[in-house]
Amino acid sequence: MIKKLALFLALWVFSCSPKANLPRSILPVNYWKVIVCQDSALPLQTASQNLKHSLERLGTYSISIQSLVSGVQKPRLGSMLIGTPSTLPILASWIQSGRINAITESSTVDNYEIAVVDGSVAIVGSNPRAALYATYKLEDVLHQFGGIPVNFRESAKPVLGLRMLHPRARGGFTNYKSTDFEFIARTGGNLALLQHDWMKEKTLFSFVECPEFPNVTPASELKTNREQLRQYLDWCRQYGLGAGLWLCEVVCQGGPWVATEKRAAFLDLFPAEVLSESGSHQGKVLCMAHPKVEQAYRKMVRQLLTDFPELQLFLTFTLDSNGELCDPASCERHRGVSKLTQYNQFQRLLLDETRKLRPDFQVISVVWSWKFRKESDFLSQQAALPPGTGLATLPDAEAWSFDRKITNALRSQAQVTHQHQQSLIGYDIFRWGDDTIFPSTELYDFPLGVAAKLRRWQALGVDGIFDQWGTQAEYVPANAIALREMFFHPELTQPPLATQWVDQLALSQYGKAAGPMVSAAWKEIETAQQIQSDFTYYWHQLRPNWAKVSLTIPLTIEALRVVNLSIFNQKTLTGIDPSKLDGTHAYGPTSDDVAAAQATGIELQKTVAHFQAAANHLKDALNATPTDQPAFSSYWLPVNDAERKPVSARQQLEKQWISVRLQAEVQRELAHFFTSYSLVKSLSKEDTSENIRKLAQLRAIQTEAAITSPMVAQFLEQTGTKGRIAQQFRDRVAGLPPP
Ligand SMILES: [Zn+2]
Repeated sequence: MIKKLALFLALWVFSCSPKANLPRSILPVNYWKVIVCQDSALPLQTASQNLKHSLERLGTYSISIQSLVSGVQKPRLGSMLIGTPSTLPILASWIQSGRINAITESSTVDNYEIAVVDGSVAIVGSNPRAALYATYKLEDVLHQFGGIPVNFRESAKPVLGLRMLHPRARGGFTNYKSTDFEFIARTGGNLALLQHDWMKEKTLFSFVECPEFPNVTPASELKTNREQLRQYLDWCRQYGLGAGLWLCEVVCQGGPWVATEKRAAFLDLFPAEVLSESGSHQGKVLCMAHPKVEQAYRKMVRQLLTDFPELQLFLTFTLDSNGELCDPASCERHRGVSKLTQYNQFQRLLLDETRKLRPDFQVISVVWSWKFRKESDFLSQQAALPPGTGLATLPDAEAWSFDRKITNALRSQAQVTHQHQQSLIGYDIFRWGDDTIFPSTELYDFPLGVAAKLRRWQALGVDGIFDQWGTQAEYVPANAIALREMFFHPELTQPPLATQWVDQLALSQYGKAAGPMVSAAWKEIETAQQIQSDFTYYWHQLRPNWAKVSLTIPLTIEALRVVNLSIFNQKTLTGIDPSKLDGTHAYGPTSDDVAAAQATGIELQKTVAHFQAAANHLKDALNATPTDQPAFSSYWLPVNDAERKPVSARQQLEKQWISVRLQAEVQRELAHFFTSYSLVKSLSKEDTSENIRKLAQLRAIQTEAAITSPMVAQFLEQTGTKGRIAQQFRDRVAGLPPP
């Protein structure tokens, strides 16, 4: 194992050598003449075409693809053989004679082997998709070495079986391109989650006709949705990807974010008898206990799987995003039936109906927030669910880009799901997260954080992961490269290997001059993220887009006095999080909001220095990078896709610099708020020396904030974040005492 890793790292180091000094131990690009591939499976066709185009891009001659091969005769020198042991007999014979490591064919386990044998290269997958992954890896090798080292060998054995990625972090369901699906495959994903709760298309009604309740989705919209879904599933097949949908059910009027007319129009879509009160701000909801509703849903599920048999998974979600359940206090059919019970009944219904058509279908519940997790029967109800269900889980109320905690709650969920043959999916963020949600933030690379996150999920023994936001292919983020390599070589997530490997990643992507600076930046980000992960006491108030108090109110005694961080308030989204225990260590005190705010202020202030140091390193790297240098991995993108045109290396660095600088600015503003809160809330009535000290500290923060808050506004506006989010930083200065 150690020897293999040493070779792996040596290859990465070597990849940074200038190609002009190629040693003779490289079989150069023009050595490779023919691709041999029995392309009965679509991903194998994709693999051979991709490798052909890649070689032709690097060389100046035409590569032939030989598709029909029988027997086990030795291939001609310079052949690239792509397949599974059963699609190319020569590969099976090389495995038998020990020339290639053994590989077991499997439709679900994505192992691959790459090895140079007798002057040819064998690219063998445990299935066609895995062979495609291997081809992408070989393309990286060709670009890094200008050929393939004569003794090149690589074995990939991912431990995370389900690697679920979303096609696009920004843009809607109708805007995906085939490039986005290719990017999922290049990143090592094996399932595309085709929409998301922030999109409009998130219920069964969005994709199948419902004769009982017609027009829930207008006919023209339904037609478009179905055409898009068909197109996306075809693209999934091309790259060997499975496919899943995110369902927010059961349909309801929706919360205050839905226009009044639309909420009213919802009531005309259904007879009054099938609707009940949800008891929440989402209004009326379809009652699943009404026989007509239940039958309609069962039929829609079967119709969906009949029309789109490629679908293999639902992520389900409720009590938010226009999905609700009946109020047990007022629905006569659900009287006394808790929402958790209703939800699990719905999970069973989905599983029953899907498994009639596809016995391996999975229905996974998204465990956001504490709405269900805090219920005393949450785990006992989960234990009673059948195999095929499962949890997509996380330690906080939603995923963060920095979070890497393991908590007792995660361990309990792992235990219950595994004991009952259910799936446990790590719900996470491997790109930017809700802590960096400004429109200015387009690229935020933290490959050491990717290692820490994957390490967490591997330690918990999860069945897979889900990356919440999705890809932005045109930036070719280092996070995507790290994710792919760490999926296929799980040992790379372990420190210190992770650090060594990430150093090499920075070198390969940014070169000898800028690489070490980028690497230094990533290490500072890692230190800051570890602190952030340890101090998430106030979930919403740490998340810029939801920080209705911490980033908006003026830091005056009067304004801070009326804030209450001790209990959760839905309107202001203030309040301390439930404690998150890891063993006996509590991530977050449950009651003392003053001590929690004080600790948060102190710790976030520490992250500011690390983010500033990271920003400085990135600025240096930017200055050391030539203007027109393309991003090293820009070949991950097709040549002619104008909408997914790769950015340059400098643009990558500029975007990262903006994100990291914004992190520094925002963490400082948050630190100001939490420290000021703890000072004001602990002032005594007497004029003690302690009081005088606290008032002086508050005054110093106010003086600093009067300068820094408008600076944040200015920086946001300069970098493309306009409107309310930027203005709030300017407005909050108004109430501060004059310096
Ligand atoms: Zn009901």
